[in-house]
Amino acid sequence: MRRSGWLSANRALPEPPKCVVRKGDTVVVIAGKDRGKSGKVLSVLRRARKVTVEKINVIKRHTKPNQQNRQGGILEREAPIHVSNVMIYCATCQKPVRVGSKTMADGARARVCKKCQQLIESPERT
Ligand SMILES: [Zn+2]
Repeated sequence: MRRSGWLSANRALPEPPKCVVRKGDTVVVIAGKDRGKSGKVLSVLRRARKVTVEKINVIKRHTKPNQQNRQGGILEREAPIHVSNVMIYCATCQKPVRVGSKTMADGARARVCKKCQQLIESPERT
């Protein structure tokens, strides 16, 4: 269980909004200081509509020693950024794209690139 207070923007809302970005996706940052960089989505905070992306928006956190981390000190970790500041990267188009959805033959919903209509794989379920 994560301690509250620290980056606990993922707070109570009756229904967490659906999010096209999923854990494991490759996304490109389109705004902010990391604009133009891309990385893998580490986690999705659906309620806050934020994502944390590998090597993006890295912040330094000063920690006191505890059970997990006996040393303490300065820890670098990714801070969440808003989903509107990232776009899903299409491997076929080789650029960030908008995402649509398509119903497959078996009834499952899949995400597709709006440019090339290629399926965007979902590496992990969140
Ligand atoms: Zn595409």
